[in-house]
Amino acid sequence: MASTSKMVSIFIIFMAFLCTKAFSQCEDETNNPCNNKSKALSLKIIGIAAILVTSIIGVCLPLITRSVPALSPDRSLFVVVKSFASGIILATGFMHVLPDSFDMLRSSCLADNPWHKFPFTGFVAMLSAIFTLMVDSMATSMYTMKNNTISTTRDHEMVATNGGVHFHGHRHAQKGPIRSQLVRYRVVAMVLELGIVVHSIVIGLGVGASNDVCTIKPLVAALCFHQMFEGMGLGGCILQAEYKMIKKATMVVFFSITTPFGIALGIALSKTYKENSPSALITVGLLNASSAGLLIYMALVDLLAADFMGPKLQGSIRLQVKSYIAVLLGAGGMSLMAKWA
Ligand SMILES: [Zn+2]
Repeated sequence: MASTSKMVSIFIIFMAFLCTKAFSQCEDETNNPCNNKSKALSLKIIGIAAILVTSIIGVCLPLITRSVPALSPDRSLFVVVKSFASGIILATGFMHVLPDSFDMLRSSCLADNPWHKFPFTGFVAMLSAIFTLMVDSMATSMYTMKNNTISTTRDHEMVATNGGVHFHGHRHAQKGPIRSQLVRYRVVAMVLELGIVVHSIVIGLGVGASNDVCTIKPLVAALCFHQMFEGMGLGGCILQAEYKMIKKATMVVFFSITTPFGIALGIALSKTYKENSPSALITVGLLNASSAGLLIYMALVDLLAADFMGPKLQGSIRLQVKSYIAVLLGAGGMSLMAKWA
């Protein structure tokens, strides 16, 4: 009897220990020896500049390849570069945004009911993927209908296949993608940028709100690579959208300032913003879940399937193998980044 009560009391103490451990994670550690507000601030400002520069380099890298003759859109190397970029976007969805959302919505800092009773992340990501498909298909059919009524008088009409979907469009020039396909590429590039933004701002916020000198330094270095790599993925999509110079520059700037903006916002809000507060966890967790669904859908359907099922890659197994290697390299590299941010 005595041993049972002893066991029970040990168990209770153990559980109490676990509980305090779980709850202490939700409060910010003020007695951390690494905390140094002024030193952290200067590190953060250096970080803002470094991340800004590396983001611009990353996103511009695929864009400047435009001037390399071997990388013109009708060459096969162009398809390989695009596949690499698509792999990066896919890994951003699967390896960065989705796990982040799971971590947040399953956090011990949230109430047991309802957050630990139902996989909200999967549910929201699924709904978001269906919604993206819906917008994609409806916008496409509306565009096609509008285009068909206009082009009935024209005789240049032709049919192109894109990921198993049939489009009606017409060529204005022999070179370059068909008009309807170009509109699609442009929409994809813009939506992708929006899908990436949440993650970029949130990782910046984390750095900005922290005063832990020991973690900021390696984190900033990791974020530089993170943004450079992700920029390469987005740059590949901006490249195929064939934007005008000003639009291209806008998209480059918009992407490049997101993480520095997040850091600045984190510094400004560092008094009130708590990464582990329930409202922050729920808002960011749900936003991450919806961008994960969007990114995964777009990477698989609009980027990868569209290219691999398209006429160019279907015509050559050799090129397909090269492109798959590029996809794996892009996805692998971005997955490696998930170790840090
Ligand atoms: Zn990440």
